[in-house]
Amino acid sequence: MTEFISETELNRIRLALNIEIKNHYIDIEGRECPFSVFMKREITKLSKRLGKSPKWEALSKDFEYYAQEGYGYRKLCIERFIKLLQFETEIAKEEQSNKNRKYSEDIDIYTKDVTYLRGVGPKISQLFNKLGIYTVYDLLTYYPKKYIDYSKRILIRDLTEDTDATIFCTVSKVKTFTSKKKLTVMTVTVQDESGSLDLTFFYASVNRFLIEHYKSNFKVGTRMLISGKVKLDGYSHRLTLSKIEYQTVDGDFYDSDNLNVGRIVPIYALCENLNIKTLRRAISNALEDWSKSVEEFIPEYIREKYKILPKEQSLKMIHFPKNFEEAENARNSLVFEELFLLELKMGIIKQEHVKNTSSTHLTVAENGLVKRFVNGLPFELTSAQKRAINEIFGDIDSGKPMQRLLQGDVGSGKTVVACTMLLAAVENGYQAAIMAPTEILAAQHFNNFVSLLTPLGVNVALFTSSNSAKQKKLLETNLLNGQIDIAVGTHALIQNKVEFKNLGAVIIDEQHRFGVKQRNALKSKATVPQMLTMSATPIPRTLALTAHGDLDLTVIDELPAGRKEIKTTLIKLSEHKKAYNLIKSEIDSGHQAYIVFPLIEESETISAKAATKEAEVLQNGIFKDYRVGLLHGKMSAEEKDDVMNDFKSKKYDILVSTTVIEVGVDVPNATVIMIENAERFGLSQLHQLRGRVGRNSLQSYCILVSSSNSQDTLARLNIMTQTNDGFVIAEKDLEIRGPGEFLGIRQSGMPELNLTDLTRDLKILEIARKSAFDFLNTNNINDFPALKKYIGQNLKITKDTGIPD
Ligand code: ADP
Ligand code: MG
Repeated sequence: MTEFISETELNRIRLALNIEIKNHYIDIEGRECPFSVFMKREITKLSKRLGKSPKWEALSKDFEYYAQEGYGYRKLCIERFIKLLQFETEIAKEEQSNKNRKYSEDIDIYTKDVTYLRGVGPKISQLFNKLGIYTVYDLLTYYPKKYIDYSKRILIRDLTEDTDATIFCTVSKVKTFTSKKKLTVMTVTVQDESGSLDLTFFYASVNRFLIEHYKSNFKVGTRMLISGKVKLDGYSHRLTLSKIEYQTVDGDFYDSDNLNVGRIVPIYALCENLNIKTLRRAISNALEDWSKSVEEFIPEYIREKYKILPKEQSLKMIHFPKNFEEAENARNSLVFEELFLLELKMGIIKQEHVKNTSSTHLTVAENGLVKRFVNGLPFELTSAQKRAINEIFGDIDSGKPMQRLLQGDVGSGKTVVACTMLLAAVENGYQAAIMAPTEILAAQHFNNFVSLLTPLGVNVALFTSSNSAKQKKLLETNLLNGQIDIAVGTHALIQNKVEFKNLGAVIIDEQHRFGVKQRNALKSKATVPQMLTMSATPIPRTLALTAHGDLDLTVIDELPAGRKEIKTTLIKLSEHKKAYNLIKSEIDSGHQAYIVFPLIEESETISAKAATKEAEVLQNGIFKDYRVGLLHGKMSAEEKDDVMNDFKSKKYDILVSTTVIEVGVDVPNATVIMIENAERFGLSQLHQLRGRVGRNSLQSYCILVSSSNSQDTLARLNIMTQTNDGFVIAEKDLEIRGPGEFLGIRQSGMPELNLTDLTRDLKILEIARKSAFDFLNTNNINDFPALKKYIGQNLKITKDTGIPD
């Protein structure tokens, strides 16, 4: 592919990529245009010449969203580009070589190639590589995803309902049937010497090729070990197995190879052409030959205190346990180690951050700005807000840099809390800044702050990339000479030219949408400003303690008084009329409504068109006597702003919108939100959307519309109808989507957590965190050579910020 691209072209792209990566994915302004525009242009040029293909289209689409998306997306987007084009950049190369290098150069197993193992030649080692196994240690820590207890064989004749059972059988028949609704049913008949049994498998919308593939797993005459739960089949009223696990047996059932039969057998994720027996044998050999060389990282006194098994023993037991209790103990010990090491890093980052650094000292006076602001509010602060403010003031008054994450459910009143911190800076003669991920949100903060703070004589300015060159210049001048007290903005705030006179406090709103480096870019505009990060997406405690483990946590866990539960219903397409009636009656009593359409085809352009069309249809049809406004991601910032202001000032009754309203939009008079194709949203996103209503004491409503028939989907959406608690929803969402997706880091999530399950390991996490932090307070890591080496290899503290990548 690359041979058609000239070296000059290649270098231009390479250079741009390197600069963007080095600048932490901020969509850096080039001489002519932002990085994302440059990339799109280059891709279009190349694809015109090299021929259109799905690949080029996907890449071009990636960069279309780049400007609007957060850090995680951007990083992924660039990684994908590099990978797809097999594009080599210096940075990508460097990262790859870091990835392949384990933490200890001189301990054999951490670097020793798997090829050198007994029973592993070049061919198998290549297959292992596909699974991410390169070294002996990788293989030792390639953990089973589950186990099957083959030690208790049961004859088909003796199966009893609601028990777990394993049968040794032979496939005697395979049938498939596809219904009109594209549901394919495969029935596999198996038999042993005592009788026969039908197993049923369901596949939705699969093609013929896939069906053949599924059938080929059950060739007639194949001998199999099958485990599962015994159930009564609703149709045939015969016993069958559900949740089954199976493996084929070549040769005799009572194989002499005792790794595979007649015991608790580990099941691993495999890849094509890799036989599970080969993998088991390799792991068993590796354990035999090398487990003695495994380093013990956890200090012995901690292992003793919490009954953590020696690492060598845990490894042996997790792969080949004698019983399930052993497997569980081994797992817990290894999970503890993972979390201990992670939290140790977090603790070190935290210490490193505070060490020898003093920060802006902000004190709040009795009759100062902050007190006047709070006293002037039209409402009493909730006790959670008061607590949050106290914690924040405790930090900024300490002279040490604050490292705090402020979390609160939608509508819990974070804005006011943020305001007090910004004002504390102003009160002490400093400037303050708040950065938000989208223009809408920044504009809204700006409007809020202007109305809250102008009466107090505080100067607020808005920095976004849609400012004109002239405006920019003026703002930059006023920021530098100190005329501006508080700067509100998007990524535009971290551009090089934006300089403060004396920045004292920084807030990052919706912090998960930015990367560490972007946050630091803003912070670095001052020597050591106080920094608060804020999130309106409730983050489950496990994630808060791991992904953000270097931060202190403040949770606003209380809504302002008088808020009612938002009544949430889930309806089918055929019930639209009911929803429209509710919307009309709400508008007739003086309130307003949102109607939200999801991103279609992952394209803002197409979605914008669809939303435009829908708005027209609604305006000319069912809502012809009402005023319908429209908001979508393809509008300019100014247009969006106008629409939001018009909606706020009641020029519209209904706002039809794509998901651009998701974050933070605040129009308290809106009391009903209808979300179309609700199944396309994640739970946390639905919760965010729902949070657009219920923002005062009026009864509010949320209507989820879905045409889905899937039980799983409906069950998921039903969670929304059962609770308004963002933290409960977040836990469920984490369970369903996993940490990577949840945090918006679509691919990797948290690489060092191999075995840990953040939905169920909270208890181990709390203990591991506590012991890691206590360890750092009471010990010198130099006395623990193995740990020290591990940390040394895994934690590159960058000189400029003290914060690792
Ligand atoms: P969020 O936490 O989602 O950012 P906001 O700060 O936008 O919430 O607050 C939501 C709404 O509640 C705003 O209209 C705000 O003025 C109002 N509000 C904030 N604190 C209180 C309070 N203590 N009592 C009553 N209303 C409040
Ligand atoms: Mg808010």
